[in-house]
Amino acid sequence: MHKQTKTPNRRDVMVSGLATGLATIVANSSIPGAFAAAPFIGLAQPKFYRCKLGAFEITTISDSEAFIDGPYPIIGANTSEADVQQLMRDNRLPEKKYQPGFSPTLINTGKELILFDTGNGENGFVPRPNGGWLAKQLAPAGFAREQIDIVVLSHGHPDHIGGLLENGSPLFPNARYFIGQIDYDFWAPEGKHSGELEKLAVIFRTNTKQIADRFSFIKPGEDIVTGVRAIEAYGHTPGHLAFLIESNNQSLLLWGDCAHHQVASLARPDWHCAFDVDKAQAALTRQRIFEMAATEKFPVVGYHMPFPSMGYVERLQGSGFRWVPHSYQLNL
Ligand SMILES: [Zn+2]
Repeated sequence: MHKQTKTPNRRDVMVSGLATGLATIVANSSIPGAFAAAPFIGLAQPKFYRCKLGAFEITTISDSEAFIDGPYPIIGANTSEADVQQLMRDNRLPEKKYQPGFSPTLINTGKELILFDTGNGENGFVPRPNGGWLAKQLAPAGFAREQIDIVVLSHGHPDHIGGLLENGSPLFPNARYFIGQIDYDFWAPEGKHSGELEKLAVIFRTNTKQIADRFSFIKPGEDIVTGVRAIEAYGHTPGHLAFLIESNNQSLLLWGDCAHHQVASLARPDWHCAFDVDKAQAALTRQRIFEMAATEKFPVVGYHMPFPSMGYVERLQGSGFRWVPHSYQLNL
């Protein structure tokens, strides 16, 4: 296309001068309220998001918008701080603060309403008021806690099991519960751990004690209901599970805590994460799960990806992966 550039003539200059003069008169106007500055009302981010997978409805709910120091050394303790900071600069991200998602996810199959992970609750990783929002966000997202038929726990960490209790009682009075057998056996027994692990185990025991008889224990390859299958994702915790969701020949991968930062974890699956119980095994799992997501072109729900925590995985040239946020693919 041919584009002409125009040199401003005398009339243009006059018109522009007139406009400036008018703007000055308007700005000095004494009409009460007509041009008052609007008050600042603070930042706002979406708190829930809903889309479709086949016949299923998928809703992610934001349990926290907290900023955390990092990603280094939470991610990349086995490399240098400079490497991680360079990767952040290359991706237009702050070097010393990041905002992970904390995104419990509801899947309505039409037969069951299933909640995957329960957020920070009263005693999770991000305490109230900055975390633990799931209980309050259910209603605005369109749900009552009594409607939830099944609660699935990807693993036993406090930011996933924190929302099981509210005011000391189970938040989901009608739910059955599922967790990996290995993870339950890791966190539930008394006297198994010490130090930091024991602090986490105490929270797990506290939050699961009242519902212990409602748990079912699952293994990779087993279905929770038709269309919801557990996948082995060990390493973050010993029995950490991902889930493959299928409806009407459409699939989605819900990967729990396979990634803790949308750039650092994806670009460098070999970089260790401080929250991983077995760091080497978790790195291998990340690589395998990202390969699967990229090869199969699965949409993904990633608990700690930026809200609404849905996206796709692409291979980078050479090695590593890239998170492509969901836009409208599942909104049809
Ligand atoms: Zn987590």
